[in-house]
Amino acid sequence: MADTPQIFGSMVFSDSVMKERLPRETYQALRRTMQTGKKLDPALANVVANAMKDWAVEKGATHFTHWFQPMTGITAEKHDSFISPTAEGNVIMEFSGKELVKGEPDASSFPSGGLRATFEARGYTAWDPTSYAFIKDGTLCIPTVFYSYGGEALDKKTPLLRSMEVFSKQAMRILRLFGTEAGRVNTTVGCEQEYFLIDRALYEQRKDLVFCGRTLFGARPPKGQELEDHYFGAIKPRVKEFMRDLDEELWKLGISAKTEHNEVAPAQHELAPIFTTTNIAADHNQLTMEMMKKVARRHGMACLLHEKPFAGVNGSGKHNNWSICTDTGLNLLEPGDSPGENAQFLLFLCAVIKAVDEYQDLLRVSVAGAGNDHRLGASEAPPAIVSMFLGDELTGVLDSIEQGSSCDPKTKEELRVGVHVLPRFPRDATDRNRTSPFAFTGNKFEFRMLGSTHSISGPNTVLNTIVAEALCQFADILEGAGDFPSELHNLIRDTYRQHKRIVFNGNNYSDEWAAEAKRRGLLNLKTTVDALPYLVTEKNIALFQKHHIFSGAEMHSRYEILLENYCKTLNIEALAMLDMVKKDIIPAVCAYSKDLCEGAAAKKALDADLDCDLEWELVSELSSLGSGLYKKARKLESDLLGVKSRGDLKAQADCYKDVVFCDMRELRAAADELELLVGEGYWPFPTYGRLLFGI
Ligand code: ADP
Ligand code: MG
Repeated sequence: MADTPQIFGSMVFSDSVMKERLPRETYQALRRTMQTGKKLDPALANVVANAMKDWAVEKGATHFTHWFQPMTGITAEKHDSFISPTAEGNVIMEFSGKELVKGEPDASSFPSGGLRATFEARGYTAWDPTSYAFIKDGTLCIPTVFYSYGGEALDKKTPLLRSMEVFSKQAMRILRLFGTEAGRVNTTVGCEQEYFLIDRALYEQRKDLVFCGRTLFGARPPKGQELEDHYFGAIKPRVKEFMRDLDEELWKLGISAKTEHNEVAPAQHELAPIFTTTNIAADHNQLTMEMMKKVARRHGMACLLHEKPFAGVNGSGKHNNWSICTDTGLNLLEPGDSPGENAQFLLFLCAVIKAVDEYQDLLRVSVAGAGNDHRLGASEAPPAIVSMFLGDELTGVLDSIEQGSSCDPKTKEELRVGVHVLPRFPRDATDRNRTSPFAFTGNKFEFRMLGSTHSISGPNTVLNTIVAEALCQFADILEGAGDFPSELHNLIRDTYRQHKRIVFNGNNYSDEWAAEAKRRGLLNLKTTVDALPYLVTEKNIALFQKHHIFSGAEMHSRYEILLENYCKTLNIEALAMLDMVKKDIIPAVCAYSKDLCEGAAAKKALDADLDCDLEWELVSELSSLGSGLYKKARKLESDLLGVKSRGDLKAQADCYKDVVFCDMRELRAAADELELLVGEGYWPFPTYGRLLFGI
């Protein structure tokens, strides 16, 4: 492998490249644009574009594309070449400021949830200079936002960038009250990405994996994850080579992939990068997922990013580690050394507590999706109930502030915010609660409900906005305070008192917690269809409108897109199941039965007294299970046809969830039973045993 420091970021038009290649004034103007988010002077855009093009061509690039994150969940690109004809009939490589700054992809093929009627399919991409351009597969990629003719956001990045602005503005108001020096406050994210790797040849033999990214059938193999030998086991050579190659690809793109290890389920692994500013982390995570698939293919494997590729073994999630950092490098979720710093820390902490309690629904919505429905609440991932873990020490401190009681038994002194120094909270990994959906881990929060396929933009847009709102309310109170220390103390005490129901340090997987959470009045939105309507409640629309993150129309459009996406996913899965049953499973069952019958007939011909009980029993069982399977397939088929007549989209989604999904489960159970009975050579696709232990 090439020298790591040398390849790191070698495909990124990074700050140091800009500094080296741009005239001084242009570089400085660009830096200002990046820091403030202000528009770039068009005259400068030409200079930047030209320098970018020269750099990219030197690196072997021939094309450029505006790279954006539409609502489909994956990234989109439309490639154009740099080539421009000259009068002499030759070509030169050209790239103008106009091409850099704005693009006009055909927007009609991206979901807009009714925001952009097809007759008016114009959509624009605009350069996001806060994220560096990079080269991927010989193409210069310009990170952009994507919006409609009317200015509505059609992507996941625009709202995220808006939420970062709002966050900084509100957090700065708080910092000014404490006299903390900073020019800007960012949220930071490092996300742990889980994924499965399986053999590509086996993958291609399964229509369910190819069409849906998850297995729709599959009996339990004799061995699952019960021995837990995979987690601590050595990484297999083929996987190790994949990881090395992946690291190198990611490093070239300036993505600091750091830790890689096996996960709990067989064939499951994890990658975590070093954290960075949230919008960059979002770009990087999209690229990471893309690279995982690409590099896996190169190594003869398939990377599965679905939340639940296999029933009966753990699914895949994404842990979104989130924190708050000033441009001077101060982590505001890190308890400080002085009473003042600690007071500031407690206030930010309380803002998060208040935000998570008041907007549990939005956090739940932000991780909703058909795939994640298989995980949340399945005792392998956090439950669908949003709560937060603070740990005993921190909870103890907040409890004593709330009760006005002593936290230190020796001095019996009442803990006063801004007067006393807090104890240091352990940041020991072994001490962590692994079942909490939203856990404080020493100087950051770990939001663990995200599904492995999710873009992290949505959940972080929500997180940034809801915490910004809490900070805004705090600033409104404190800016008018006569006696700051005392108002601050009261604000922290009252906020904790009002919102402490969201704090839970126990086992989130237990049934007792579900009952207790209900008593506390916490939401338990078990499925995507239950959760999504909360996106468009009056309270939540008001929040996003207040901070100019989403307009009401944008929120309704997103609700439609998400609901439609759920319906489409279930429809594809149901159709894939029917296809596999009719085209593959039934023929296999029949072929096996036929051979058994023919075998029995041959035996009888040889000697009429030969025992044919085995054949007889197997064939009868295959016949009755086979008819059962067929009936279940017919039921699924007719229920599926009935969905469209259910009226509006919400009614259809309900029908997919309550009727179609149950039919699918029954159909699967019948097929899995048959799988255990039918001879290996007859079964039409690779079994779980081969898929999970094949590498
Ligand atoms: P776990 O113990 O949950 O497996 P890991 O060490 O695998 O945790 O991953 C922790 C993640 O948290 C890493 O991606 C790391 O960069 C990130 N992280 C650490 N500090 C911060 C921070 N201040 N802000 C955001 N993310 C952070
Ligand atoms: Mg984690």
